Amino acid sequence: MARPNETNPQDANVAHDAGVAADTLRLIEHTKKLSQLNSRFEVALNNMARGLSMFDADRRLIVCNGLYREIYDLPEELTVPGTPFSKIVAYHSAKEGSANSVDDLKRQQLWIEQHATELRHGKVFTHTQNLKNGRIILVTNQPLEDGGWVDIQEDVTEKTLAQERIAWLARHCPLTEIANRFHFREMLDEEIQRLKPNGSLAVHLIDLDYFKQVNDTLGHAAGDAVLKAVAKRLRTTVRDNDLVGRLGGDEFAIIQTDISGPEQAASLALRLVSVLNAPYRVLGANAGLGASIGVAICPDHGADPDTLLRRADMALYRVKTCGRGSSYIYHPEDEQLVNERIELQADLAEALKKRQLSLHYQPIVDVEAGTVTGCEALMRWQHPKLGMVPPSTFIPIAERSGLILAMGEWALHQACRDAAGWAPSIRVAVNISAVQFDHGDPAAVVEEALAASGLAADRLEVEITESTLLRCETKTLQNLERLRARGVRLVLDDFGTGFASLSYLRNFSFDKIKIDRSFVADMAERRDCMAIVGAVTGLAKTLGIGPVAEGIEDIEQLTGVSIAGCREMQGFYFSRPVPSADVEDAVAQCLTRISEASGKPNAG
Ligand code: C2E
Ligand code: MG
Ligand code: MG
Repeated sequence: MARPNETNPQDANVAHDAGVAADTLRLIEHTKKLSQLNSRFEVALNNMARGLSMFDADRRLIVCNGLYREIYDLPEELTVPGTPFSKIVAYHSAKEGSANSVDDLKRQQLWIEQHATELRHGKVFTHTQNLKNGRIILVTNQPLEDGGWVDIQEDVTEKTLAQERIAWLARHCPLTEIANRFHFREMLDEEIQRLKPNGSLAVHLIDLDYFKQVNDTLGHAAGDAVLKAVAKRLRTTVRDNDLVGRLGGDEFAIIQTDISGPEQAASLALRLVSVLNAPYRVLGANAGLGASIGVAICPDHGADPDTLLRRADMALYRVKTCGRGSSYIYHPEDEQLVNERIELQADLAEALKKRQLSLHYQPIVDVEAGTVTGCEALMRWQHPKLGMVPPSTFIPIAERSGLILAMGEWALHQACRDAAGWAPSIRVAVNISAVQFDHGDPAAVVEEALAASGLAADRLEVEITESTLLRCETKTLQNLERLRARGVRLVLDDFGTGFASLSYLRNFSFDKIKIDRSFVADMAERRDCMAIVGAVTGLAKTLGIGPVAEGIEDIEQLTGVSIAGCREMQGFYFSRPVPSADVEDAVAQCLTRISEASGKPNAG
C-alpha cells in the first residue's frame, strides 16, 4: 500500500490526462465560440448598408465586406486579407480610366501619400467619388490606434441627385428649364459686377400678348407647350453668353451681355418681337401670339438689378399702353408718365367714392324708320384739376387696377335707373369690360340693376368687344347665356378691330353688331372700307343680326352707310353724348337730322 504522501505514478498520469482533456475541451469550446463570433461578424459585415474595409498599419487589407467589393467591382483576389491598398487603388483607377498616363499615376501616388498623412494625424476625413457608372460614393476614413484604418463607403447617389434637383428647382422654372425670377436677378447682379469699365449690358423684359387667350381657348396643356416653345425660341435667338429667364406667368427676360450701345439692344429686341410673332404649332392646333418688350440699359439706366428691372418694366408698360407687339427702350420721361398713371389711379378710386363719375348718353337711330332706338351709356370723369379725362385714358387704368368692377356695377345701376325714366321705345346700351367677365359676375349685377330700377330686361343692351369674346372663357359664355335667357340684348361692339372672325358670329348669336367707326371714317377715301361695311351689313342681316354703323359724322357718311344697306347708326352727326337730363333734347335733335337727311319732315 502506498504511503499517503507518496504519489502513485499511475494516478499522476490519469490526472494529467484529465487536465489535458479539460484544456482541449475548453479550447474546442473557445474555438467554437470564436468561429460562432466570426460567422456572426461575417453576417453582420455583409449585411451592412455601407461598404466597409479595414487596413493595417502596413496598408494591407485585413477584411472587407460584400458591398465594398461590389461598389468597386473588385475581383476575388483583391479582397483576400493581405492585399496592398495601393493595388486596390491602382485597379480602381485603371477601371475608372484615370490611370492612363504617367501624370495620372503620379497623381494617384500623391493621393495615397496624402491619405496616409491625414490618417497618421488621427483625422477622420471624408471625400466623394463620382464613379464612371454614375454612382456617387461618400467615403469616410477612420484611423485606428495601431496605425491602420477603416474605410466606410456610402452610396449617396439618390440623396445627392435629390439635393441637386432641389437646388436646381429653387433657381429654375421646371417647365421651360430656364432661370426663374430669383436666379435671373442673381445672374443679373453677377453680370453687373463683371462689367468692364466702359462695358454695358441690356435687360429685356418680354410680355407675351394674347397668351391668356391661347390658354383659355386651347387649354392649359397647349399653354404650357407655347411657353416651352417661347423659351426655346428665346434661347436660340440670343448669343451663347446672353441669359434667359422666366419671371412668372407669361413674362420672360433676357440679359444681353457685352453690348456696344443701345442700337444693339434695340436690334435684338426687334428680332425677338419678330421671332416670337411667328405662328406656334402646339398639340395639333395653331396658336398666334405677340410680344411686347421693354428694355433698360446698364449703366445708363441703372447700376443695380432692381433699378434696371423696374425701368425695363416702365418701358414695357409704355409699349403696352401705346399698342402692343413692339419694343421700347426706357427713357427718363417714362418715369413721369408712370407716376402720372399711378396718381390717376388713386384719383379714380377717389372719384368713384366721391361720385365724380357720370354717364352721358348718345342716341342710336334707325334712319329708315325715322326713330331713336336707344342710347349708349358712356362714362365720363370730371377730374377736379385735370378737367374731363377721356375714357380711353381712364378705362384701361380702371381695368388694370380692378376698379372697373365697382365702376361697371355703378354704371349698370345708373343706366337702368336713368332709362326707366325715358320713353319705353328707347333702350339703353351699357359697355361691359372683359375684366368684369373675368373677375366679376355681370349677369348677377344686371339682375340686381334691373330689379332695383324696374327696367324691362329687353330694354337693356349689353355691349362687349371682340376681344372679350375672344377670351372665350366658359365663364364669359355662361354669363352671356344667362343674360340672354333673362331677355337682355347682346351687342358685339367695335366689330372689325379685333381678331374675331366671322365664325364667332355663327357660334354665338348676337342681337346687334356695331361696325367700328374706323371703317366709316375711311369710307370716302377707301373703297375697301365701303365694301367691308356692305359685306358686314349683308352678313349680319343673313344671320338675323341687326347691324349698326358707329361714328357717323356727316351726311356723306350717312348716305354711304345707307347705300351699304345699314339703317341703324350712331354718331356726332345725330348727337354727341349728352348728360341724362338732356337725353330728350338729343332725341329731338336726332329726329330733326334724320328728316333733314331724307328731305322728309320730322316723324316724331
Ligand atoms: P365705344 O363703346 O365704341 O363707344 C363709342 C365711342 O365713340 C364713344 O367714345 C363715343 O363718344 C365715340 N363716338 C360716337 N360717335 C362718334 C363720332 O361720330 N365720331 C367720333 N370720332 N367718335 C364718336 P368715348 O365716350 O370716348 O368712349 C370710348 C370707349 O370707352 C368706348 O367705346 C368704350 O369702349 C369705352 N367706355 C366708355 N364708357 C364705358 C363704360 O361705362 N364701361 C366700359 N367698360 N367701357 C366704356
Ligand atoms: Mg360701345
Ligand atoms: Mg364701339
